[in-house]
Amino acid sequence: MDLTRPALVLGAAAVLAVTGCGSDSAATDAGSSERLRVTAAFYPLQWASERVGGDHVVVRGLTKPGAEPHDLELTPKAVAELAASDVVVYLEGFQPAVDEAVDTQAKDAAFDVSPSADLTLAATEEGGDHAGETSGKDPHFWLDPVRLTGVATAIGERLAAADPENATDYRAAAAALGKDLGALHDEFAAGLEQCRSDELVTGHAAFGYLADRYGLGQEGITGVSPDAEPNAATLRELTEHVRDAGVTTVYAETLVSPALAETIARETGAHVAVLDPLEGITEESAGADYLEVMRANLSALREGQQCT
Ligand SMILES: [Zn+2]
Repeated sequence: MDLTRPALVLGAAAVLAVTGCGSDSAATDAGSSERLRVTAAFYPLQWASERVGGDHVVVRGLTKPGAEPHDLELTPKAVAELAASDVVVYLEGFQPAVDEAVDTQAKDAAFDVSPSADLTLAATEEGGDHAGETSGKDPHFWLDPVRLTGVATAIGERLAAADPENATDYRAAAAALGKDLGALHDEFAAGLEQCRSDELVTGHAAFGYLADRYGLGQEGITGVSPDAEPNAATLRELTEHVRDAGVTTVYAETLVSPALAETIARETGAHVAVLDPLEGITEESAGADYLEVMRANLSALREGQQCT
């Protein structure tokens, strides 16, 4: 447990954060009303925190359903809630507004998953000059189930440290989640083993880790951030790439306009299919949670890449 928090954080929010922490002796008599307050920066972290925390936590997502997380802005209310959290799960370098709020309001509650996310790929050129990718690394680790497993384990350890009484439950839930993600990984590995085309052309360049894990190549129509609009030359190159590589399916995504994918498809005769980068779940999502949407992605990929 973090003993330095009361000294470092001042104000009413700090009092709430300290008394709300399940590991403090004062909290133990209150039972389920004293659940650990977890704030998660965007959907896959929210989902993993919910799975790992179970009934011991209340998880609040900073990125609302249907919103696009790259350029998230936080209201004063959201910042205040973040400041009152016991644990803030986020990815340093992905959402500048979250980095800043954590820095100024929640240093001790902050849990940056980037060390466990294994961010080995560089952000693509098109996205490299965007503020959200300050580290120069591709942030989209969650589309690789293996990397998400590492993060889930780390979240389990962080929740166990924040709430030692329930440490066994957090570790067990993280292990169960790891098992589900392992099964998903096996399905992807088997499902994408034999494909006629190994080249993905996606909406924004979110699928680099997925492509890398399963032996595919990725070209994003926009850069690593969805608002990094390609110029005419980039679009021309992509169109040529689609023709030269015999790409038959171009992927659009759920939270971003499919117009560019449709343009390339029209010029090349390719189809447009949907691949969901899981940056937010909406009613339009092809599933109710991470696992369901990933399975829908696998089935779109198997069809689009003509896998047998
Ligand atoms: Zn993205």
